Amino acid sequence: MIQDIAPSVFHNEYEPVNPASGDTVFVFKQKLVLAAKDPDGTIVFPKAGEFEKELQYLFRIDDQPYFLCLPEPGEELLPGAGLLPDGGRYEYIPLMEVRRSTDPAGPDLASMFACMTAFHLFTWYDRNRLCGRCGQPLHHSDKERMLRCPDCGNMVFPTIAPAVIVGVIDGERLLMTKYAGRAYKGWALIAGFCEIGETVEDTVRREVLEEAGVHVKNLRYVASQPWGSDLNLLVGMFCEADGDVSIHMDQEELSRAVWVDRADVPEMKDNHSLTGHMIELFRTGRER
Ligand SMILES: [Zn+2]
Repeated sequence: MIQDIAPSVFHNEYEPVNPASGDTVFVFKQKLVLAAKDPDGTIVFPKAGEFEKELQYLFRIDDQPYFLCLPEPGEELLPGAGLLPDGGRYEYIPLMEVRRSTDPAGPDLASMFACMTAFHLFTWYDRNRLCGRCGQPLHHSDKERMLRCPDCGNMVFPTIAPAVIVGVIDGERLLMTKYAGRAYKGWALIAGFCEIGETVEDTVRREVLEEAGVHVKNLRYVASQPWGSDLNLLVGMFCEADGDVSIHMDQEELSRAVWVDRADVPEMKDNHSLTGHMIELFRTGRER
C-alpha cells in the first residue's frame, strides 16, 4: 500500500530545518499539485532552490525533508509568476495522476506517499489561518505540529477523519460497488466516514445497511491506511452478510452494488490503496 515505503522510514516529528536548494516542495491548488513531466514520463516536483517564497517544513522521509509552499489567502500561485518556478516546465496535475502512476518512470512510492501526506497538511494549514474561537491569526508552535492562538490560547492540531472500507462477504461472493458521480469509475467497496458517537463497528454496520440494505456480522479488522488526499485514516474491515442478502442500493452514493463471485473478481492493478489491497486479498483467497 502507499504507506509501505520500507526500507525508507517516514518521520512525522515536527523538527523543522531550513530548506536546502534540492529539497522537494509541494504546491497545491484544489486537488492539483505542481509538477513537471519529464520527456521520459517521470513526474518531478519542484525544488526549494526554485522558490522565492518562504516555505513551510512538513516532515522527513529518511534524511530527506519535504516542504510546502502555501499561498496567502486570495493569492493564486501560478508557475512563472515570480514566486514559483519556471512556468514552462511545471504545471498543476491531478493528485490522482500522481497517486495512480504505475509507470516505472513515475514517482516512487515514497514520493507518492509524501505528496498525499503533504496534501493533508496543506489542507490543515490552509483552513486554519485564523483562530476559530476569537479570529486572531494562528502561530505555529516551535515544538510540535500545532497552531496556537496568541490571544486566547486555542490549540489546533491536524485534523484526521476516520473512515471505514468494508469487504462484505457472502460465502464465495464479495459485495463490490461503483461510486455515483465521482471521477473514479473503477470497482470499490462500501466505504464511509465515522460519525460522531460511533465506534468503527457501528460505522461498518450503518454504512453497509445505508448503501446496500444488508445486515452484517462477524466483523474483523484487516488493516488501516493513512489517506491524505481525503484527510482520512482508513480502517479496513471484512464482515459477513447476515440474513437477507438482497441488495437495496443507495442510488445517491452508488451507481452499482453487486455480489461478485470470487472467480469473477477483477485483478486490482492499483496496489496502493486499502480498497485494492482488500479486493486482492479476497480474489486470491487470503481474506481469512
Ligand atoms: Zn483565539
